[in-house]
Amino acid sequence: MSLPGKRLLSATTIKNRVEELAGEITAHYNAPSNLPSAGLTVVGLMNGSIFFLVDLVRQLPPQTAVETWRVASYEGRSSTGKVSGLDHLTGDYKGKHVLIVDDILDTGVTLSEVKIRVKELGAKSIKVCVLLSKKKKRARQVKAHWVGFDIEDSFVIGYGLDLNDAYRTLAEIRVLDDSKQ
Ligand code: 5GP
Ligand code: MG
Repeated sequence: MSLPGKRLLSATTIKNRVEELAGEITAHYNAPSNLPSAGLTVVGLMNGSIFFLVDLVRQLPPQTAVETWRVASYEGRSSTGKVSGLDHLTGDYKGKHVLIVDDILDTGVTLSEVKIRVKELGAKSIKVCVLLSKKKKRARQVKAHWVGFDIEDSFVIGYGLDLNDAYRTLAEIRVLDDSKQ
């Protein structure tokens, strides 16, 4: 099978970086001053973060709670500027330390809206971890406490990232050739 675009990050590169991130996150939440009284709750944003979430949380302490929220802001290759699915999201986050995990930070709209919602639901602390960050199109300033890789502003697929639901299952991350849009 010939794959579209060209390789940006190999499966091994991703695996090594996810291991490092898990180590940094564990060390942060283990520090006595940050000790989560109610434990850590990881909220993964579906579907894009599906593989990243799984690979990451398997390396976090066993007390870690894991939840998923389904939100979407992209149609095809561009951001709609709106986040759908947030109104339905409920749950008891009162007093909890929440780590939001997403595949990629682009305009920042998704993560800023999700942070607002997590806060409304009563979280005590909110931090963000993304595998990828593209800085160019940032419309909302969102602090990502852990970033796997800073990348250029191009459309990427694989390791959970899709193009109209295809290519999520690739083990590596590939950048689509802009000339083929
Ligand atoms: P933001 O709201 O920050 O603009 O976008 C975040 C969401 O848009 C990500 O969670 C992801 O689902 C989608 N997204 C942004 N850039 C890309 C990309 O290059 N490739 C894919 N497949 N999705 C992207
Ligand atoms: Mg997403």
